[in-house]
Amino acid sequence: MSKIIYKTAEEIELIRQSAQLVSKTLGEVAKIVKPGVKTIELDRLAETFIRDNGGVPAFLNFHGFPYSLCISPNDQVVHGFPGEHVLTEGDLISVDCGVVLNGFYGDSAYTFAIGEVSDEVKSLMRVTQECLVKGVEKAVVGMRVGDIGFAVQQHAEAHGYGVVKELVGHGVGAKLHEKPEVPNYGKRGSGAKLEEGMVIAIEPMINAGKAGVKFWKDGWTVSTVDGKASAHYEHTVAVRKGVPDVLSTFSYIEEVLAKNN
Ligand code: MG
Ligand code: MG
Repeated sequence: MSKIIYKTAEEIELIRQSAQLVSKTLGEVAKIVKPGVKTIELDRLAETFIRDNGGVPAFLNFHGFPYSLCISPNDQVVHGFPGEHVLTEGDLISVDCGVVLNGFYGDSAYTFAIGEVSDEVKSLMRVTQECLVKGVEKAVVGMRVGDIGFAVQQHAEAHGYGVVKELVGHGVGAKLHEKPEVPNYGKRGSGAKLEEGMVIAIEPMINAGKAGVKFWKDGWTVSTVDGKASAHYEHTVAVRKGVPDVLSTFSYIEEVLAKNN
């Protein structure tokens, strides 16, 4: 059983640099996320941008994953393969990005609407982002991992959505996935204590319909059992006293999306 690895202040700054490169990469992706674009084009752009900035795509060759981004359209939850899928008005596309830079990992994900999406999809995206905010708020000293999961689950289920249980958030550091696991469900006051020096990826995966998922024969892609949409937002967060320190940011994405509207 591996243990939680606590980071020094210097290590947290290195993780911040990596998470910032992830965030900028997703900002670049945001610029070309539009109808007519193939998801493989997003992957190529991301890989080039990461390498041009001195990083290495963290997901490429991770346990054999063949791409730099995980791109999961519509009913796909996570770990989808970029490919020939042409982005189409009304799609929602979850894009997960990881980078290793100076020996440390950053991890963040964002779900994009392609053009005008249905009100159901808009609501799912909004609530899933709110779940992330509510989870992140709990990433402070004195809370426990279960408090994060409880906050996420409570909010999603209040809207009638399904919380994916088979996949979870995680510690981040010199490895992409460290202890502790950070589920999107849980009991208040349960699980590992959150302490200074912990860096965790908080990543609600929320389904418009049932919570259940299926695992594809490609060994990676995960989709909803009922074919309804799923959304995924993720931040890399350092646990602090009082106020969590969010090391990744959606500001690069939001700047681009604001310009487009
Ligand atoms: Mg991720
Ligand atoms: Mg992650």
